[in-house]
Amino acid sequence: LPGDLFGSERRNSPGLAFGDGAALRRLTNTVAGAAGPAEAAPIIDGAPRTGRARPVVTPIDASVIGSVIEADSATASLAMEAATRGFPGWMRTCAAERAGCLERAAEAFRREKGRLLHLLQVEAGKTLDDALAEWREAIDFLRYYAAQGRHLFAEPQSLPGPAGEVNSLRLVGRGVFVAVSPWNFPLAIFTGQVAAALMAGNAVVAKPAPQTPLVADLAVRLLHGAGIPSGALHLVPGGPEIGAALIGHPALSGVVFTGSTATAQRINRALAARDGAILPLIAETGGINAMIVDATALPEQVADDVVTSAFRSAGQRCSALRLLVVQEDVADRMIAAVAGAARELAIGDPRDLATDLGLVIDAEAKKRLDAHIAAMKATARTHFAGVAPGGLYVAPHIFEIGAVADLRQEMFGPILHVVRYPANSLTRVIEEIRAGGYGLTLGIHSRIEEAAERIAEALPHGNVYVNRNMIGAVVGSQPFGGTGLSGTGPKAGGPHYLFRFTTERTLTVNT
Ligand code: GLU
Repeated sequence: LPGDLFGSERRNSPGLAFGDGAALRRLTNTVAGAAGPAEAAPIIDGAPRTGRARPVVTPIDASVIGSVIEADSATASLAMEAATRGFPGWMRTCAAERAGCLERAAEAFRREKGRLLHLLQVEAGKTLDDALAEWREAIDFLRYYAAQGRHLFAEPQSLPGPAGEVNSLRLVGRGVFVAVSPWNFPLAIFTGQVAAALMAGNAVVAKPAPQTPLVADLAVRLLHGAGIPSGALHLVPGGPEIGAALIGHPALSGVVFTGSTATAQRINRALAARDGAILPLIAETGGINAMIVDATALPEQVADDVVTSAFRSAGQRCSALRLLVVQEDVADRMIAAVAGAARELAIGDPRDLATDLGLVIDAEAKKRLDAHIAAMKATARTHFAGVAPGGLYVAPHIFEIGAVADLRQEMFGPILHVVRYPANSLTRVIEEIRAGGYGLTLGIHSRIEEAAERIAEALPHGNVYVNRNMIGAVVGSQPFGGTGLSGTGPKAGGPHYLFRFTTERTLTVNT
């Protein structure tokens, strides 16, 4: 295959040392200077649609931070039709030009750092370091897919054949891709999906999560400003009924989705029920992610990595640790170390630099998590119960349950479950994890290399982390995505992602 599949010609964007006071002040000033109300609306053929706006409120204190005009199903159809018209021209645009657009968009995202970070904080309730990491990831996706696509789609690949016959194979866009993204990474995942679909030569209709339309609107305007033709990228803010309208539209050629397993299954059924072409679904969904800790693990490192994996971003990552599976002999020590580290977490306003743990996305999420905490308090052993301020805060909790199978549902918040296992039942525990059907992230803490290898070998998880935390996959270094109930693959930020957005054409010429 031609080209730089690993995107090694580019670098990921640099981070910030939070200990560097002057740099941190510059950043907080940039973000504060970019505050102000924002608007979102359907953008079709580059033009924002008018209509009745509803206010967008921040989860932080329910104040109004902007407004959104949501699409109705007629608008969703208009977007699909506009994308159908925009597709042929964009598909024929050469790969270098498409890549150039994405690279210019990366620069535009860099220039709009203050505004993007501000929106990530107020719209999604992110801490500054989470917002910064997400903004960097969005830029990295743009550059990574550009670097790959520039080679992958440049020239048809010549293939062997008998004398007098010329064979070649090329990758082309499939048509109109619908991109449905989640509120927990409203910039990075939104941008990653859109960038990949565009780089592969598709026209895109993007539907952001209903909780986070503002940052998506800005991202689309920056992409258009960077040269993505208005016919190739359209935005339709709205809820699940808009998603259904897009996925039911006859012009659809493929879907890329990140969100819950249940929604991915619904999309899959809807695609299967359509008459006509059989369409691809790229889904990245949830997980009941486990970390297995054996008796040789280092307690301090386990404590640090567990707290990061389970509680950072208030546990609102699909990669987050939900189930700590710890060898009986060391369980008391490990649990005490983890609870001690959890006790140190500062929970509060995500804009406050001292905050480790912000709030959850909305009242519905809080209600679900609170109900789970109440049920756990009644049935499980409580090892740690943090205290949360009023509002949409959910404090970290640690509960011990009897068996792996007792946790049946992904709980998308800062709630950690613990199970102990006797050393001689590791195989059974592994089987129980496998039987759950999810396969996203898996953590292993052991100082016996063969033990870690054996566990990793025995489970189907897409991202396995040994002796470290299990969140924050880095573009190009930790291609991200799971198997089974956790998703279809291919992995975002990996060498094979772009292929799935394309179709292949073989040309044979008798000369
Ligand atoms: N890629 C993110 C991580 O590694 C998680 C993405 C998600 O939550 O959907 O933490």
